Amino acid sequence: MDQSKIRNFSIIAHIDHGKSTLADRILEMTDTVQHREMVDQILDSLDLERERGITIKLNAVQLKYRAKDGEEYVFHLIDTPGHVDFTYEVSRSLAACEGAVLVVDAAQGIEAQTLANVYLALDNDLEIVPVINKIDLPSAQPEVVKEEIENVIGLDCAEAPLISAKTGLNVEDVLEEIVKKVPAPSGDPNAPLKALVFDSIYDSYRGVIVFVRVKEGRIQVGDKIRFMNNQAEYEVLECGVRNPKEVKLGALECGEVGWFAASIKSVQDVSVGATVTQANNPAKEALPGYRKMNPMVYCGLYPTDSAKYNDLREALEKLKLNDASLQFEAETSQALGFGFRCGFLGLLHMDVVQERLEREYNLSLIATAPSVIYHCYMTDGSMMKIDNPAHLPEVQRIDRLEEPYVKAGIMVPNEYIGAVMELCQNKRGIYKDMHYIDAHRNTLEYEIPLGEIVFDFFDKLKSCTKGYASLDYEISEYKKSDLVKMDILLNGELIDALSIIVHRDFAYARGNSITVKLKELIPKQQFEIPVQAAVNGKIIARTNIKSLRKNVLAKCYGGDISRKKKLLEKQKEGKKRMKAVGSVEIPQEAFMAVLSMD
Ligand code: GDP
Ligand code: MG
Repeated sequence: MDQSKIRNFSIIAHIDHGKSTLADRILEMTDTVQHREMVDQILDSLDLERERGITIKLNAVQLKYRAKDGEEYVFHLIDTPGHVDFTYEVSRSLAACEGAVLVVDAAQGIEAQTLANVYLALDNDLEIVPVINKIDLPSAQPEVVKEEIENVIGLDCAEAPLISAKTGLNVEDVLEEIVKKVPAPSGDPNAPLKALVFDSIYDSYRGVIVFVRVKEGRIQVGDKIRFMNNQAEYEVLECGVRNPKEVKLGALECGEVGWFAASIKSVQDVSVGATVTQANNPAKEALPGYRKMNPMVYCGLYPTDSAKYNDLREALEKLKLNDASLQFEAETSQALGFGFRCGFLGLLHMDVVQERLEREYNLSLIATAPSVIYHCYMTDGSMMKIDNPAHLPEVQRIDRLEEPYVKAGIMVPNEYIGAVMELCQNKRGIYKDMHYIDAHRNTLEYEIPLGEIVFDFFDKLKSCTKGYASLDYEISEYKKSDLVKMDILLNGELIDALSIIVHRDFAYARGNSITVKLKELIPKQQFEIPVQAAVNGKIIARTNIKSLRKNVLAKCYGGDISRKKKLLEKQKEGKKRMKAVGSVEIPQEAFMAVLSMD
């Protein structure tokens, strides 16, 4: 293959600006996918992605395009997710490319993630090809948006294609721009192999399937390869590309993006960002890897059936292969037994992981309320990192607590500035700055505790701006806060998995709302159950769950045995998502009740 005819690019955009739709059109127009096989968002291969209409995992496909110059080009298109939780996936795919198609919605203009993604692309030295999408919409203002891109980002938009990814209008111009603007890969095909691992999945028959971008040299079937980070060696049994179905080839050439399988059974051997080389003719230096992402949010995951603990461990190990940002370690809870403390990039990430574990690995799980990492400075001068509120030491030993703050940039139309400021205030935000984007929109800058952002900030922001605000944030620093641990007691018993860390000023209000919520969520039992919230051993809120007036089974006394059985089965069904904690049955929702703010 002629290396000068290869183009590797990603599509980047704010969520919903039309990345996946554009990818669909490109696949269709290059006849990569036959029309009858076409489904919307074809690259979103996880069921979850389709249902939620969002892209979570990156995906790479090879397609061929005969350009107007008469030459045939080979494109490798890598689709990327848009949500702030998945920035990590985006930066990984960008490292495998030379260019990025920047999609901007002609009716919405630049949004927070448009900028965040542009910065990532610039960090990776990519050529950016701006494209204005959705010009079929009556509210589209392509000329205004072009100007906005030139002013805010400083990209020349004179030749930016004005397209409708939905109808296919002018999409061909995008392909021509890619040929013209995105540089061909520059690696040396005769140098020793250097291939960047940017993703992997586990296949139960073939072991780990490794996705790579060949930066130098080539990989072919039969090669003995070595992972440069841990020296593990394997023989390549299969390799190829996806289009998006798997296509087997004899080799992957310099500049190509594809996959190989080498009967790798130990999932720990493959890590994203690693460099693969030839065992017999190794490269001297590895490629620069990826920045390691630190989880922002932690929660406990426990199997509802304790016997499934090992299944959960295996599932987490396999999922981690496909999701390098996932972290976990074993933990035990007095209330919930054996489980794992897992770290996530954000709440959406946490949700997605939990759902993938349940669907793809057939597990039933209890997740505890998410928590950020607190820094606990002790009176003896040491510092403990606390990712589980239950582990906070007794108050006498604590000198002070610090919590992570983020620097948040919120793009908002002028008429909602007041509402957003009020929201930020309620979330303990510290106002920093405000600047104009254009006559109609501003960017507000705040410092806000991450603990407030991860709960319901995003939803609240959307609802108080009718969906017109967009948010981007990065971790800034730890600051001292007046925080206390709040414990929840059921029937006089402290339930460690329900403990949370709250700001002292909000403790009473939160204590009240949580106890009321728990009362709603926990089913009545044979006896009355007091529900209490306590700070430093002092009860600050209390309600009671009344006892059942009658034993449901009593009705069946002497009666129809099958009806009794049915009742018992029904109860069992309802118990699927329950965990018996001491004498009380607690449903999954109760563990999330501590998040309720109202
Ligand atoms: P992504 O989040 O960037 O991947 O966005 P999607 O491709 O999933 O598109 C988000 C929504 O915008 C979907 O409902 C698409 O049908 C719609 N959409 C995408 N492109 C166009 C377009 O050119 N015109 C119109 N009217 N809608 C579009
Ligand atoms: Mg998408």
